[in-house]
Amino acid sequence: MDFVCPKCFCKLNILESGTAVCQNGHCYDRSRFGYYNLLLENGGGVHGDNREMVDARRDFLGTGAYLPLAEAVGETVSDFAFDGMHIVDIGCGEGYYTDIAEKKIRERVNNFTFSAVDISKDAAKRTAKRNKNISSAVASAYKLPLMDVHTDIALSMFAPLATGEILRILRPGGKFILVIPGEEHLLDMKEKIYKDAYRNTVSDTDIRGFTLLSQKRIFYSISLTKKEDIKNLFMMTPYAYRTDAEGREKLEKLEKLTTRAEFILFVYEKNCGK
Ligand SMILES: [Zn+2]
Repeated sequence: MDFVCPKCFCKLNILESGTAVCQNGHCYDRSRFGYYNLLLENGGGVHGDNREMVDARRDFLGTGAYLPLAEAVGETVSDFAFDGMHIVDIGCGEGYYTDIAEKKIRERVNNFTFSAVDISKDAAKRTAKRNKNISSAVASAYKLPLMDVHTDIALSMFAPLATGEILRILRPGGKFILVIPGEEHLLDMKEKIYKDAYRNTVSDTDIRGFTLLSQKRIFYSISLTKKEDIKNLFMMTPYAYRTDAEGREKLEKLEKLTTRAEFILFVYEKNCGK
């Protein structure tokens, strides 16, 4: 396990009981599902996606509609894989892409460590249950429980972007793989709900401290023929928060939906001399 203590940033050692402890005596119990809660400001509320959203996403992803994206990401990370490396998935959700990426890497190399963090406890739990080779923790993308310059690949898919933290944890020459929705992603679904469906904006691709090595557009059409799948897709998007009752009603009446899916996969390299 590559996580460090979120209080003092010292290495965590795992005791036989499963508890992780640092040299300053800070302890973190392993949950019965296999993840660690390394989020310090835990006011008792629900952080990130709640169970319904995590479940909706798991069910939708289970249809295979985003498999072409998962495979493209898996191939990209395995291209950069090497023995002894450490990779982290930041904002891993329920671990769908994380799991596929881990298996793709394992086809090429045996000796590597894979960490995954999400601010949602339900997401961390699902990830831990899905793949035992992945170390899963509840943590914020803005304060990763990882050592400075220790990580070789950082993956961020549709997650809050804290590039300063990614710069801190990556070794010089380390890769940062970023996936964002493309301009036309789910445009057909939006046209069914909104009068003025807008295209997503793809902002400036420069990230300080990194060089963009490549960018790939993944574009295809998905057809959903079950009401439940349409609802789950909607629930896992930001539109679930923003849509009024009228829009929701329109969506719930849809019997089938064919929509464009578009993603952009960027590969950045951390500049040397930082
Ligand atoms: Zn500590």
